[in-house]
Amino acid sequence: MNYILETPITYLKGVGPRKATVLEKEIGVKTFEDLLYYFPFRYVDKSRIFKVKDINSDSTYFQLRGKISMLNSVGDKRSRYITAKFTDDTGSIGLVWFRGLKWIKERFLPSKEYLLFGKPSIFKNSFNFVHPEIEDLIPDEEIVAGQHLEGIYSSTEKLKNSGMGSRGLTKLLKQLLTQSGESISESLPKYIVEHYKLLDKKSALYNIHFPENQAIIKKAEERLKFDELFYLQLQILLNKRLTKQKSTGFVFDSVGENFNEFFSKHIPFKLTNAQKRVIKEIRSDLKSGKQMNRLLQGDVGSGKTMVALMNALIAIDNGFQTCIMAPTEILAHQHYNSISNMLKDMDLKIDLLTGSTKKAKRTKIHEGIESGDLKILIGTHAIIEDTVKFKNLGFAVIDEQHRFGVAQRAKLWKKNKIPPHILVMTATPIPRTLAMTVYGNLDVSIIDELPPGRKSIKTSHHFEKSRLRVLGFMREQIKKGRQIYVVYPLISESEKMDLKNLMDGFANMVHDFPAPEYLVSVLHGKMKADEKDYEMQRFVEGKTNILVSTTVIEVGVDVPNASVMIIENAERFGLSQLHQLRGRVGRGAEQSYCLLMSGYKISNEGRKRLEVMVSTTDGFVIAEEDLKLRGPGDLQGTKQSGLLDFKIASITKDSDLMLKTRKIAEHILEKDPQLSDPKNTIIRQELSIKLKNKANWGKIS
Ligand code: ADP
Ligand code: MG
Repeated sequence: MNYILETPITYLKGVGPRKATVLEKEIGVKTFEDLLYYFPFRYVDKSRIFKVKDINSDSTYFQLRGKISMLNSVGDKRSRYITAKFTDDTGSIGLVWFRGLKWIKERFLPSKEYLLFGKPSIFKNSFNFVHPEIEDLIPDEEIVAGQHLEGIYSSTEKLKNSGMGSRGLTKLLKQLLTQSGESISESLPKYIVEHYKLLDKKSALYNIHFPENQAIIKKAEERLKFDELFYLQLQILLNKRLTKQKSTGFVFDSVGENFNEFFSKHIPFKLTNAQKRVIKEIRSDLKSGKQMNRLLQGDVGSGKTMVALMNALIAIDNGFQTCIMAPTEILAHQHYNSISNMLKDMDLKIDLLTGSTKKAKRTKIHEGIESGDLKILIGTHAIIEDTVKFKNLGFAVIDEQHRFGVAQRAKLWKKNKIPPHILVMTATPIPRTLAMTVYGNLDVSIIDELPPGRKSIKTSHHFEKSRLRVLGFMREQIKKGRQIYVVYPLISESEKMDLKNLMDGFANMVHDFPAPEYLVSVLHGKMKADEKDYEMQRFVEGKTNILVSTTVIEVGVDVPNASVMIIENAERFGLSQLHQLRGRVGRGAEQSYCLLMSGYKISNEGRKRLEVMVSTTDGFVIAEEDLKLRGPGDLQGTKQSGLLDFKIASITKDSDLMLKTRKIAEHILEKDPQLSDPKNTIIRQELSIKLKNKANWGKIS
């Protein structure tokens, strides 16, 4: 990057202040460089001229050669538009303009031939072109001599009106490269360019806009993607090093009474090897003297809570308090119940704080927290409110973190002068390449093993016509003593409609499973906290057979006797949500089932999601598929950070290159941590510019 390219776009010949404003407003192009990095989204063969009779689709671009006639103003003063005919030796096709009418009317001569370029639309069962790009005919020899592939740039209505449709932009780019192309400088050291056989930067930028053949487009793309991914990985690594250096943390150097007593007397099962490994990983962070920021990924049911608890006990053994924050009241309750149950024979004060904790109780908890008496506080985001002042919070656990905003996490940090060690737990695994990027600052531990004896959940997809069979299956399971979840999605725009769907479903269930033989309960977000608790508790205790619910049960709820999950309108759910929901069953020793119910009309993507669910229970495979189907979306605030705003690379499609550039970056920093070797000077310069302008690191994990 260099400074000529930072020139404001108004200095480009052909761009005046008016065009400059439109460029900035519409596509964010302010400088030469911005325009240079506005890449075509596809290429068409420019030498190819179609005939009017060839037009058979509204999904591709066509270039035609012919005459324009019958220009007509249509409509009244309020909505006037112009129609015309474009004719070649095989027929005619309609043209329409809604804006720039005066100019259009005066522009075309009936005797002259023009080149028309555009994507047809269908109107009243026939094709026409709305606002096509029209140029004077280029003399034949120029078409032959020039390059044949033409980049297509996405344009907007406003750009087109200012003469900057795809071809208009092409012209500007040509101008830019003529005017300043020579000042494009290399951004990678020579040894990298040579070793990886990359195009040099200048040719990559020329060829991405004005390629001669498909092969060179590939090379140009590869080079530009390499740039983006390599510098991204370097920044991540450097940033990680920086956070590590500056963050002093509490030292938990002893394993004491509480941990030992729990481990020898009260732990209800044998830890899996994965749990043991991860507890050790965390343990070594806790005594390192640096603040821990660790992400614990483990599929649903893999036993993350126990890992959190064991390390919480170590914190307490070292004289600190701990807290566990869950995203919903139901989940907070459940953690509270199971943890206080496991610790019931130990002398440890533990309490629960949520939004619906009563005033008197709340005051008592605040006191316990301030005096240091209360050792484990479990709750919802209520525990990060400013009124909650820990005496010495040493270890904080955030469960199912995708539900929490980044700002909320930051708040936890500020509870002490020295920030507590933080363990973030999630059952929504994300693919490695993404984790590497999104959680650049976190260390990652993975539980890749389920407790023994779990049977894989059988998943199947059913259409409405199988409803009777499904009901029969439910009766059979209830007879065996199992419990069932039936989940309804939040689908419609209005909450009222959703509630109605759910309540209709509930009414049907009550009808099909009448009392007193069966008991059906219902749970949804609009209920009062104590009502929710009551219903949930009845289900947990096995008092009801069927729980009809919205996705409020999505995260964390643990009822081992529930072995059937029925998801209504399953095609409406995203993959990770389906996976979470399915994870509510398969927690006991019984064979569990997940039945995905859907209507007949399903989008391709919806169908694909259901297929993925039926074919695998592996959370990581599902995460990969999800990423492919959906793209990264706004994971962990990455959108605000601008971190994944790639111009050309794709986090889903270029994961190989991502891993490759990561390795290269690691290797370079290992050999030359300060980037002081002269051969890396280019890297240092390039980085300093990027760090100045780009990602907002504070906004991510
Ligand atoms: P998640 O990782 O989804 O949060 P939980 O911590 O809720 O999983 O654990 C799921 C269930 O498995 C709980 O009932 C828990 O008691 C049980 N569990 C956890 N670890 C083990 C283990 N090592 N052996 C047997 N059961 C376990
Ligand atoms: Mg959990």
